[in-house]
Amino acid sequence: MNDRPMDTDVLVVGAGPTGLMLANQLARRGVRHLIIDRHAGPTRQTRALGVQARTMEIYSRLGIAERALELGKRATGANIWTGGRPKARIPLGDIGRELSPYPFLLILGQDDNERLLGEALRRQGGEVHWHTELIALEQHATHAIATLKQPDGTRREIAAAWVAGCDGAKSAVREINDIQFEGAPYEHVFFVADTEVTGAMVPDELNVYLWRDGFHLFFPMRGTDHWRIAGILPAAMRGRNDLSFDDVVPSVRGEVGQALQFKSCTWFSTYRIHHRRAARFRSGRCFILGDAAHIHSPVGAQGMNTGLQDAHNLAWKLALVVSGRAGEALLDSYAAERLPVATRLLETTDRAFALVVSDNWFAGVYRTLFATRVVGLAMRAGKFRQLVFRTISQVGIRYPGSPVSQTLSGIHAGAPRAGDRFPWVHLKFAANGPVEDIFQRLDDTRFHLVVIGQAAPAGGVPALGDLLRVHVVADDAANHRELARARIPRRSFYLLRPDGHVGLAGVKLDPSVVASYVSRRLHVGAGV
Ligand SMILES: Cc1cc2nc3c(=O)[nH]c(=O)nc-3n(C[C@H](O)[C@H](O)[C@H](O)COP(=O)(O)OP(=O)(O)OC[C@H]3O[C@@H](n4cnc5c(N)ncnc54)[C@H](O)[C@@H]3O)c2cc1C
Repeated sequence: MNDRPMDTDVLVVGAGPTGLMLANQLARRGVRHLIIDRHAGPTRQTRALGVQARTMEIYSRLGIAERALELGKRATGANIWTGGRPKARIPLGDIGRELSPYPFLLILGQDDNERLLGEALRRQGGEVHWHTELIALEQHATHAIATLKQPDGTRREIAAAWVAGCDGAKSAVREINDIQFEGAPYEHVFFVADTEVTGAMVPDELNVYLWRDGFHLFFPMRGTDHWRIAGILPAAMRGRNDLSFDDVVPSVRGEVGQALQFKSCTWFSTYRIHHRRAARFRSGRCFILGDAAHIHSPVGAQGMNTGLQDAHNLAWKLALVVSGRAGEALLDSYAAERLPVATRLLETTDRAFALVVSDNWFAGVYRTLFATRVVGLAMRAGKFRQLVFRTISQVGIRYPGSPVSQTLSGIHAGAPRAGDRFPWVHLKFAANGPVEDIFQRLDDTRFHLVVIGQAAPAGGVPALGDLLRVHVVADDAANHRELARARIPRRSFYLLRPDGHVGLAGVKLDPSVVASYVSRRLHVGAGV
């Protein structure tokens, strides 16, 4: 069995946003893969709506950010209403201005995201095999054998070196590997509706209506007067499966305002949400990503974004291992990094959800009377505002405890450290050269060594070879100011991974220390 030729290096199960992102990232790195989906074609439902800044940064490297911006709507603020009055505004745009090129929440439906990702995949010669379902999976020492049900109903076995389960909340890859999906359903039932409606909503911004027992969210959509409304169903309607949007209109009007004029509703759906996390994100040759690995309340628009970033995290590691440049131990860092992210996400979305939907009288009064005032006041404090932006936009996701994160002594507290996403800075890389946006310089298919206040190593980093780009920051007053703003020491070096996170951070650049990091932590180099 071990001698069987491999049909593909990575079998990607599921062509939702997570699977499409993974297939794209593998294609860009020249990794042979096969992406399948049991559905006949892409989803037509908007479902997830919010694209966060960190996802836009990844889209930018993939060449689809501009198109996403054209199709979507930038929500630069969130307005909180209680008792029919606006009580607080969270200015998303202003607070993220220095942190990301995309300091806003982009409102762009999941269907559009999937379309852009599908087009990007086709441009690279990739294609989803629709109507193809994974029905069985066996693991062997060097590969997995997957049984696929093909469009004509016949079955076919394929051998794949690795399997990525991007197959959603009911993941077959997770279930076949007997990985527990720990958690529970919430008692509440959500509804979502895509509507054409006029009312007192602040145009082009997120409008959040809090009332004693729940909330309604109004997301601005493309076009005039188009709003996605999400909320929880009134308790009396739970359990009914014959509901239409007309049934929920009285409750929406009751809490948001009688002045709402509905012209149409193009999509209405109800769904019960669960909060669950897989006990493991890897089992031998199989990985699980996206909704297959974690599901939670949609509060905060994090779900789709987290799956996209799971894929971005795993892709470069798989590419190094499949090409034989890194040892398989590098793949352990996927779960070590993304499982804690999912755990924190479940905790924060649970807390936020409990606050906005608790049936408890005290919580209702707290939410409508005090919380909005507290949020309004807190948002005036710069540090709190930045924390809010970093958390919601996902640019603050860090992997400090990862086996591939190493901060050497001497890096002062407050400076970027190993595991952090390297900050967005504008620097000169030659004394008389232009000021450049570092994110435009960082190609996410390579490693980058950013050298500050010292010379670059003469021989590069031999083990990384052509996978490495070296960027020497010029000794210049404007650079010093920019480095200080980002709290980057004037003498330091940062080895960045392809996904833009810091792998190794230190003060004095010693090539032997970098070489040791590359071989021991990344498992890259001779003898892998
Ligand atoms: C009604 C609704 C509203 C939502 N609203 C929001 C929101 O407002 N904000 C938010 O963040 N999230 C929202 N979500 C959640 C969001 O849609 C998910 O987080 C997102 O789709 C996860 O993407 P994914 O690619 O991981 O999984 P999915 O999108 O579920 O994709 C999984 C894919 O795998 C395929 N598949 C499954 N099993 C197999 C198999 N055995 N073989 C082959 N293919 C298989 C499926 O056909 C599917 O295409 C909503 C979900 C629903 C249902």
